[in-house]
Amino acid sequence: MLEGHKSRSPRTGEDSYEAIAYYRLSRDDGKEHESDSIANQRSLIREYVKAHPNIRLTEEAFDDGYTGTNYDRPGFQRVMEAVNSGRVNCVIVKDLSRLGREYVETGKYLEMIFPSMGIRFIAINDDVDSINARPGDDILVPVKNIMNETYCRELSKKLRKQFRLQRSQGEYLGAFACYGYKKHPDDKHKLIIDEYAAEVVRNIFALKLKGFSDQAIAEHLNREGILPPSEYKRSLGLNYKSGLKGADKSGWRAFTIRGILTNPVYIGVLIQGKRGTPNYKIRQMRVREEELWSVVKDNHEAIIDTFTFYAVKKALSVDTRVTANTGIVDPLSGMMVCADCGRSMVKRSVTRGKKKFSYYVCHTYKKGGGCTSHSIPVEKTEAAVMRAIRNQIEVVIEMKQLLEEMDHKEVLSVKLKRMELLLAEKNREIDRQKNFRMKLYEALEEGLIEKDEYEEMRKKAAAVIETAEAAAARLEKERADVIADSKGKLLWIEQLAAHQASVKLTRELVMTFIDRITVFEDKTIHIEFNYRDELYRYQEILRPIHQEAGPPWHEKADL
Ligand SMILES: [Zn+2]
Repeated sequence: MLEGHKSRSPRTGEDSYEAIAYYRLSRDDGKEHESDSIANQRSLIREYVKAHPNIRLTEEAFDDGYTGTNYDRPGFQRVMEAVNSGRVNCVIVKDLSRLGREYVETGKYLEMIFPSMGIRFIAINDDVDSINARPGDDILVPVKNIMNETYCRELSKKLRKQFRLQRSQGEYLGAFACYGYKKHPDDKHKLIIDEYAAEVVRNIFALKLKGFSDQAIAEHLNREGILPPSEYKRSLGLNYKSGLKGADKSGWRAFTIRGILTNPVYIGVLIQGKRGTPNYKIRQMRVREEELWSVVKDNHEAIIDTFTFYAVKKALSVDTRVTANTGIVDPLSGMMVCADCGRSMVKRSVTRGKKKFSYYVCHTYKKGGGCTSHSIPVEKTEAAVMRAIRNQIEVVIEMKQLLEEMDHKEVLSVKLKRMELLLAEKNREIDRQKNFRMKLYEALEEGLIEKDEYEEMRKKAAAVIETAEAAAARLEKERADVIADSKGKLLWIEQLAAHQASVKLTRELVMTFIDRITVFEDKTIHIEFNYRDELYRYQEILRPIHQEAGPPWHEKADL
């Protein structure tokens, strides 16, 4: 019967909808959640509707102070009345928890009542829109999440959407406290370190670098009786001074660990949206979410140094097949690829007599999908990689000493000057070519050259301009890097050099030093190191300086 209420919009060809917005201010949100104020819910929904021309907001209903587990709320009753009478065919809420927090009852509306009446249901922040739902989709997943969560990432996801809204309204943007941080007692927009939780976070990163799987880390923390973030937060609310109160029923989970390991909040970065974007539209934000967010560095004190963070990021990006029983990853696991087919190398063990031998072989070969074995023994490979890392450490140490000998800021300033000269030269070249292109056009106008000659020369000039512009952009970026380096204390060199005493190949060492290892059929391996660009750049910086500063005959001694 409600089908007749939907009408075809002649302009877009899409269905059009008459919608009721439902807001709920609840007691269970507590005072902290200003973002859930009725005014905020209302402007979020209005922005959304503005971006969706086939939806017309015709009614609003709200409940204030009713709990999410009770459906006898007057505002909600009004929604049902509007739906039943056929005045609307669409219900919009900010998120599912506005509709209700009680799983079974909320599920009844989402999965039975609304669909059977042909009502479109939209929960903006949970990305739920019933017209996108396919049979079998679990539309209730977000509700379950609401119940399980308070887990930092989920919370931050919601807050990010809220921030966007606040920013579009020009409001001041505050910070949110993730596990490891707490809000400053006097300024809730400021994050300060919560030492107890921060120590747990540091431990999680250290364990990951040692090669533990997310699951193994979670189990370790549970064994130690460390409260998971949600429980810990709750315990603080109840004024427990210590977080060590025995594991709760749910405990740490692998996804909680992963959430922490990938959250840049721990390196002092606050994710923030771009300011002043013209034509700010919700539709765009939803599609290109990541790109619309910029990053505020040094927003607050870091718990993890960027070096460790990126080493962990690298560890997470490679295939981490865990050795049975131990929950620990082999040092080289996932880091090697076959030179011929590009697939990763996998471990294979064979027993001869009483001895067990382990090899890495090409994954394609092992699966019988062609390629050749590329087989290399694990022990020998690890030894070779360790030797290569030792060499790399020596290079770094040498560089560190060189940089200490001379004032590296001075070195950088010389380098900077040189780069600026190069950049200026590139820019002059771009101007020259543009000028030439203009002259070409005049020549064509005056009949001095033919149309096809003009076209050909114009194309050539355009290509030269393009190349020069790319080079200029590259220089510009390098210049920015050098400036950034001169501000920092060359942390990466310090961090690499800190491994001076390492003799045994560990996962941490591999993650720190190595980007990728390529294995050839003739049993040679090619190692690509991390920070090779930086190392190269510093070699470049140091070399000419050395030549200028040192006695010139040294260079010519062999000639
Ligand atoms: Zn292969």
